[in-house]
Amino acid sequence: MAEKLQAPRGTFDVLPDSAALRERLLEQVASPLFSQAGYGRIETPTFEDTALFARGVGESTDIVSKEMYSFVDQGDRSLTLRPEGTAPVCRAYVEHGMHKLPQPVKLWYEGPFFRQEAPQAGRYRQFFQIGAEALGSDDPALDAESIVLAARLLERAGAGGTRLRIGSLGSGAERAEYSETLKAYLRENASGLSEDVVARIDLNPLRAFDAKHEGTQAVLAGAPRLLDSISAEDKAHFEEVLALLDAAAVEYEVDTTLVRGLDYYTRTLFEFTSDRLGAQSGVGGGGRYDGLVEMLGGPATPGIGWAAGIERILAAAEAEAPPAQEPAAYVALDEGADRTAAFALLLKLREVHGLAAQIELAGRSMKGQLKSASRLGAKTLVIFGGERGQYDAAVKNMQTGEQTELTGLTAGDYFDRIAEHVLAGVKA
Ligand code: ATP
Ligand code: MG
Repeated sequence: MAEKLQAPRGTFDVLPDSAALRERLLEQVASPLFSQAGYGRIETPTFEDTALFARGVGESTDIVSKEMYSFVDQGDRSLTLRPEGTAPVCRAYVEHGMHKLPQPVKLWYEGPFFRQEAPQAGRYRQFFQIGAEALGSDDPALDAESIVLAARLLERAGAGGTRLRIGSLGSGAERAEYSETLKAYLRENASGLSEDVVARIDLNPLRAFDAKHEGTQAVLAGAPRLLDSISAEDKAHFEEVLALLDAAAVEYEVDTTLVRGLDYYTRTLFEFTSDRLGAQSGVGGGGRYDGLVEMLGGPATPGIGWAAGIERILAAAEAEAPPAQEPAAYVALDEGADRTAAFALLLKLREVHGLAAQIELAGRSMKGQLKSASRLGAKTLVIFGGERGQYDAAVKNMQTGEQTELTGLTAGDYFDRIAEHVLAGVKA
């Protein structure tokens, strides 16, 4: 036997039960929620120029420095399987001149993302996200609307035990000043910090707040807080966001140490976790990115958005797969039955009468066919027999056991007569 091939490490197949859950999340929860809020759907390519992420997400981030699937194509271009969705959406906003549309432009997306991380429960190398981006306004109401949408999505998806933490990173000079203060503090206390954090003091000092290392956490417990040094304007913006969340009855905790793994955030920053998940408790997160579009070569454009992991939403929802649709009819073939006519009957039931219908496809005996019909939960069983041009059919109501025999079906309308009885059986 040839060597057995497996899906690459950290990836998974979506089989029908799980596909049904995902479909329900997208079609019944996400799609109506977004369209009600005026968000349009966007799909960007699965791969982009590597430079988009290097510039947009930031060279110093884990994503760019360790986790990207980058490759050189036949034309010597460096491409990367997208690790996140915000930079691609901003690229598309600039590329399609969306700044000329009435602002804000509100977009949502769903699809696969790729990061070369150590696979474990809830952490994959290909995973799926639902995300939302709103560009072209820095109104705090846009932040609040975006966060409320994330909260409602999780709620309606049934994700339980969720918690929202929120902070503000401020912007401009105050933020740059704070960065210097923090760098100095970290250098003074470098002996207690992890090597990783020390190595990034200059590059990305804020990320120290994200470290799991105990010594680092102890040092940071006494560190100056960004939230205390943001400008009065940024503070007022943040207060307004919080007031609107209060009005929407969205619960949150202000977290002065919140940082996230992407460089582009400014002002509002937030993260949803669920205590129903294990170590990988983050369900979704996002924030404002007022400098990103400009950094990608577009006009100065504020924006805010978030992304949530579909696998983690479903895990936090502990949802059961919706039952498969029960067929209205199962067409069983009597011995010697005209298979072509039976097949035509099947298609007529489906396509003309709009019924879910199945037919025997594996050559089972009559006993086996009856078993299949009841395993599938078919509402009626059509035993199709007779000879070419001279058909018989027995239509059995599987709930009541009631059976109607139709014999000598010769006229062109025999399919309709069978369908009539199937319909009666379905309604009964
Ligand atoms: P984490 O802290 O778990 O690494 P993150 O901060 O890197 O998450 P984001 O980049 O903000 O995550 O992505 C948003 C969401 O996408 C996360 O909250 C999570 O639900 C999901 N996600 C991120 N990385 C993965 C992954 N490798 N596998 C599965 N889901 C993921
Ligand atoms: Mg991560």
